[in-house]
Amino acid sequence: MTTSIGWNLENSYTTLPDTFFTRYKPTPVRSPQLVIFNESLASTLGLNAQVLQSEEGISVGAGNSIPEGAEPLAQAYAGHQFGHLNKLGDGRALLLGEQITPTGERFDIQLKGSGRTPYSRGGDGRASLGPMLREYIISEAMYALGIPTTRSLAVVSTGESVVRETALPGAVLTRVAASHIRVGTFQYAAHLGTVEDLKALADYTLKRHYPEILDDENRYLSLLKEVMKRQASLIAKWQLVGFIHGVMNTDNMTISGETIDYGPCAFMDTYDPATVFSSIDREGRYAYGNQPPIAAWNLARFAETLLPLLHENQEQAVEIAQSTIEEFPNLYYANWLPGMKAKLGLFTEEDEDKALIDDLLNLMQKHKADYTNTFLALTFDTVKETVFSGVPEFMDWYKRWQARLGKQEESKESAHELMKNHNPAVIPRNHRVEEALEAAINGDFTVMHRLLDVLSKPFAHVPDQTEYCKLPVDSNRPYRTYCGT
Ligand code: AMP
Ligand code: MG
Repeated sequence: MTTSIGWNLENSYTTLPDTFFTRYKPTPVRSPQLVIFNESLASTLGLNAQVLQSEEGISVGAGNSIPEGAEPLAQAYAGHQFGHLNKLGDGRALLLGEQITPTGERFDIQLKGSGRTPYSRGGDGRASLGPMLREYIISEAMYALGIPTTRSLAVVSTGESVVRETALPGAVLTRVAASHIRVGTFQYAAHLGTVEDLKALADYTLKRHYPEILDDENRYLSLLKEVMKRQASLIAKWQLVGFIHGVMNTDNMTISGETIDYGPCAFMDTYDPATVFSSIDREGRYAYGNQPPIAAWNLARFAETLLPLLHENQEQAVEIAQSTIEEFPNLYYANWLPGMKAKLGLFTEEDEDKALIDDLLNLMQKHKADYTNTFLALTFDTVKETVFSGVPEFMDWYKRWQARLGKQEESKESAHELMKNHNPAVIPRNHRVEEALEAAINGDFTVMHRLLDVLSKPFAHVPDQTEYCKLPVDSNRPYRTYCGT
């Protein structure tokens, strides 16, 4: 039954064994106010944007009332955080239910920052306004870039303070996801549940995300392979736009293949594989260049959880898991290479392509070139305006690239179009995001709305984006991001 807001909620997660969740209600807040709202997402979900933005809808977004049909719960999960396995769970989030859209899709509706739960450990269960708006901006930017991601429906300020280093305004984010099942959910099952629990989770996941392989001979092995495929594609997309997640713990890696948990993430400006923004990632475990091997490491942890389901003989199960996981680098490369070729306008395949790409990246690193703007300059033939202007070794590379373009039948115009569609004009540059957040926290939302508008069409290449392509002035560097927000 749908309501005036359009809620059409199911609660299939509650069919899992109860070790996987705890039914729990959000803690009401004092004075909820809608801060930002995603009309187009609301409409995709089959929700009435007008009613959702009224007192009735805001009350749900604040956790002050529960929508009809919702059976709120906190999900249990575990996770390797910076390499150490911990028992975790939704410490400041609650799943309200799964919205079935008019086209029959199923999306988790989750409140983030909705108060303490049995999994809160020492935390206050709350979130502050800045980081929730930051998640809103970056997740929507990722969506517009064509990168699988959780999305943001609304941010509601609470009228209460949260205490971090200082007192900050509190907020609740409504997050929308294909699901919130994580590698860490499987680790929870494997380490803290029974084999039956694990099997129930795997079967639930298969039905929800991979129904086409349900009848495979070894469906759990197929599950591992499909998750690897989606992650290989996802991480390649991150690398191609210079996105650095910042905290690729196994609890922050989804089984659906969506990007999740926008904590200390940020986009790289100057190309350098060692780029790290997160203040707590002191050893660079989650540096830009480490993201593909870390994804493989996380997937190996996922494979371990599946061992009892892969084969009844433990040794053979290990062998199957290992030989499958070893394929990840190839899978990743098979996604990354075509993506990089498209960024350079290449339709065909030549042996020299890998070297051509690697040499460009090395030159970018050596000359401290901006990653996004270098590809833009190649697309629009404006290299003269970059650090590469008059650099002989770059001009050698440029000639090689032109010669390579000349080898394909496709016209220069087609190559230009291909490049336009694969090289974003705008990414959420750190100084722009900060500027929008600062204004918003001081009550001026115009800067953020304008930024969101520009970020929603990254491949439009229109003049009003030019301002957003500019680099930060040096005093804004080095940029630092913070966790536990
Ligand atoms: P995250 O760094 O957001 O991926 O969170 C890691 C774990 O810490 C998850 O189990 C969160 O639910 C939990 N957590 C983060 N912040 C808080 C908080 N303020 N209160 C309670 N739990 C939290
Ligand atoms: Mg997390």
